[in-house]
Amino acid sequence: MALKIIASQCTVCGACEFECPNGAIRMKGDIYIVDPKKCTECDGQFDEPQCAAVCPVPNTCVKAAPAA
Ligand code: SF4
Ligand code: SF4
Repeated sequence: MALKIIASQCTVCGACEFECPNGAIRMKGDIYIVDPKKCTECDGQFDEPQCAAVCPVPNTCVKAAPAA
């Protein structure tokens, strides 16, 4: 599982990019995206997803729905 960034709410502040311990967040064009192959949900590394913890916009870094 991974987190995702709700692009319509993201202010592109960049805070999450530098907090991700796995380098899973990067810019693509003019938005930030989470690489689901790299995102571990910070499991085993931090108590909570660091991107969500530092994001100034509530509910913008959220758990991605499982693939149907
Ligand atoms: S949950 Fe953790 S590993 Fe996943 S994108 Fe956010 S900071 Fe990176
Ligand atoms: S911390 Fe939140 S608002 Fe800032 S770039 Fe990341 S997802 Fe967007």
